[in-house]
Amino acid sequence: MKAINTARISFQSRSSNEVFARAAVSGFITGLDPTLEELTDVKTAVSEAVTNCIVHAYPGTLGMVNMTLTVYPDRRLVVRITDKGCGIPDVKKAMEPLYTTGNKDERSGLGFAVMQSFMDKVKVVSTAGGGTKVTLTKLLRAREEERT
Ligand code: ATP
Ligand code: MG
Repeated sequence: MKAINTARISFQSRSSNEVFARAAVSGFITGLDPTLEELTDVKTAVSEAVTNCIVHAYPGTLGMVNMTLTVYPDRRLVVRITDKGCGIPDVKKAMEPLYTTGNKDERSGLGFAVMQSFMDKVKVVSTAGGGTKVTLTKLLRAREEERT
């Protein structure tokens, strides 16, 4: 299906850029007139994926994070968040709730579980040393129909 709109941003893996990513996705989908719940769901999922790039992808250093936003005529929103960082050796294990390689006092290992609960589909492609690509998909409700 041909996209009706697309946008792409790149930013450094600084913690302050989590707010930037949330604001960018928020601005992008405002034109689609999402429900408040949809807006919150998407922002929360994006926040988790971007935080993972910030916290895990580039240990001890900074790298770039890319976010591509695409919307299709059926109101399907696809957000792709990629980094070229350390990668995930075992994606299946990393996606299990409570699994974390982070500091146990700060991280709860629930980021992927949160993404899965707030989006329709979460796809993770990653290899150790090869970076990570997270694709988040959500079908936004048809607002026009709701009003009639
Ligand atoms: P929380 O999100 O609850 O603060 P967390 O980030 O450890 O904790 P998840 O977001 O579920 O939990 O991620 C699980 C694990 O997957 C991480 O601990 C990390 O090992 C790995 N991971 C996730 N995203 C990336 C990434 N972009 N680059 C490298 N490793 C990642
Ligand atoms: Mg996380």
